[in-house]
Amino acid sequence: LEAEFLKANTQPAITLDGAEVTLLANIERPDEVQLVAGYNAAGVGLYRTEYLYLDNARIPTESEQTLAYTQVAAALAPQPVTIRTLDIGGDKPLCGSGGHDFFSPHKEDNPFLGFRAIRLCLEYPEIFKSQLRAILKASAHGNVRLMYPMISGSEELARANALLEECKAELREAGTPFDEALPVGAMIEIPSAALTADILADKCHFFSIGTNDLIQYLLAIDRVNDRIAHLYEPTHPAVLRTLRRIVEAGHAREIPVGICGEVGGDPILAPLLLGLGIDALSMTPPLIPAVRYLVRKMALKKARSLAERALTLSSPTAIYELCTEFYREQM
Ligand code: PEP
Ligand code: MG
Repeated sequence: LEAEFLKANTQPAITLDGAEVTLLANIERPDEVQLVAGYNAAGVGLYRTEYLYLDNARIPTESEQTLAYTQVAAALAPQPVTIRTLDIGGDKPLCGSGGHDFFSPHKEDNPFLGFRAIRLCLEYPEIFKSQLRAILKASAHGNVRLMYPMISGSEELARANALLEECKAELREAGTPFDEALPVGAMIEIPSAALTADILADKCHFFSIGTNDLIQYLLAIDRVNDRIAHLYEPTHPAVLRTLRRIVEAGHAREIPVGICGEVGGDPILAPLLLGLGIDALSMTPPLIPAVRYLVRKMALKKARSLAERALTLSSPTAIYELCTEFYREQM
């Protein structure tokens, strides 16, 4: 089967009934652009930028960042490269070994509910702005999209956007080129964002659902606690209903809705996600061939029926079994 997957790798990700599915790559370092091309992804759906801050436990300079982002944007142009602003904290530790001297004034009891990601960036606007300017500068060299992690509500999104506008004004003033039409997205990975997606949609150009965190927060299951890993259920009805709700809110305002969490790279779950109306799946590059193979074997119409049926079921196990059955039938 592995050989079959690789053979399909050069083929377009089109369903039997002619729907084109956008398969994107998640990357963490600039040298991974080779994987993006190698696995024939349509671009980068999530470029995690934490490594720049964690590898050396210091704040990278603006030019270091500009270089790292520009390398990826230029190498993949005209394909889209979605750069996520700093998501340090939570499972990307601030404290302890591998931690960060600058950002770790004290240890937190609940880092997943703590000083993390956009919260931290908004408290250190100068650090945040240097990243935003670096991303803007990179946008002159490719098809860059910018995305904020851990957005919990519209004020946070508005504050981030206001800082972005300040950065644009500064670059204009200096005559530094950037993409004036740079698309800006919000990650939807906190239940409050999912429930207010209709409001957030007015302040951004796309949504990317971070299911790794969204599931953790919806189900109150720590994503890195092995003791309760069996309770981390992507097919929980609450997850399905939430995904459906985000898709409806986005599509009602004509903004695309992708997924960049781990579930997006699971070929057993991909039909369900596409059936729920998800527009793009972003995953770690080696998972792309198996998902592409499945996409080419299924009809979107059938995936939609699968999703409708799944939404009527009450048990995560039953929903997972339904997906497994669907997967087997297509293969
Ligand atoms: C997610 O939460 O699903 C996600 C893609 O982001 P990360 O895993 O980096 O938190
Ligand atoms: Mg996340």
